[in-house]
Amino acid sequence: MASRGAGASYDGRMSSPHETHPGSTPGAAAPSVDSLSPVRDREAIDPRGSKRDRSWPPMPDPLPFPVIDNHCHLDFADGDEQLSVRDHVERAAAVGVDAQITIGSDLEAVRWTAALLASPDCPESLRGGVAIHPNEAALHARGHDHEGRELIGLDEAISEVSELLRGPGMVVVGETGLDWFRSSRRDEQARQAQIDSFRAHIALAKELDLPMQIHDRDAHRDVLEILDADGAPERTVFHCFSGDAEFARECADRGWYLSFAGTVTFKNAADLRGALAEVGLSRVMVETDAPFLTPVPYRGRPNSSYLIPLTMATIAEVTGTDLETACRAVRATTQDVYRWPGTVAA
Ligand SMILES: [Zn+2]
Repeated sequence: MASRGAGASYDGRMSSPHETHPGSTPGAAAPSVDSLSPVRDREAIDPRGSKRDRSWPPMPDPLPFPVIDNHCHLDFADGDEQLSVRDHVERAAAVGVDAQITIGSDLEAVRWTAALLASPDCPESLRGGVAIHPNEAALHARGHDHEGRELIGLDEAISEVSELLRGPGMVVVGETGLDWFRSSRRDEQARQAQIDSFRAHIALAKELDLPMQIHDRDAHRDVLEILDADGAPERTVFHCFSGDAEFARECADRGWYLSFAGTVTFKNAADLRGALAEVGLSRVMVETDAPFLTPVPYRGRPNSSYLIPLTMATIAEVTGTDLETACRAVRATTQDVYRWPGTVAA
């Protein structure tokens, strides 16, 4: 199917963000959504492997007001039953999660995400973001992945990201940042690659006037320092926020946003709930990081955007509001941050 002019199915409400952009290969046919199989299975990178319960949790009660999942990974397969992109979208919509931002965070997933968004039958509610994840940045700098396959250099990878971010449906640079959990203090090359990559993505977000999603794992101070030194993009989001109340306050005071994932429902996450209580609803968004970080009581099982109501219930409880008020606030913030046009569906 020709990529251009094939998107007749759009009603134009969101100004057809998925139309093929001028930079795509001339004459190349964009693949249909159903022909895009997932990039990889979660099993391949989850150390718990086949010991996990891979059954899909049941559908929760629908939300009283729809919200957007601002960070998930549709390129990952998980679960005993394989769900298609369309299945994820439909299940989510059925419980009031009526839009999603899917994040491609290694080069393969970056290309997959761009192809998904450019496909003529991409669900209208999907948007995307791409970046080289900090752990991937270290691999690009080293020149090969965990299986020994050769990788292009970090600069080259980031320039491909930069090109694809100009394509249809792209609304955010991410996820980028620092991951000191995976790169030990002794591995100076890996740490330097992460820092270089983070700074390049900050510059890119500013150049493209896009928001940026930050991956910060065990690196709060260093992330803060780099953002302060380089100047953070106007719309800076801490994806899967993992700091305490004090760090949350520092972020909120700088005008940044906190996105909470299923981790906020975990029994041992009192600090995280303290962070949420500290900033209240004003700068808060919700995400799944699916297929990871499934909320309680299904922790460890596959995750998908349709499980957001469980996380929203915790957000409402911790901020002392009713569920509908919490959903309205979270949605308004999300539409604001990503300049999401159109009226709210409900
Ligand atoms: Zn993620």
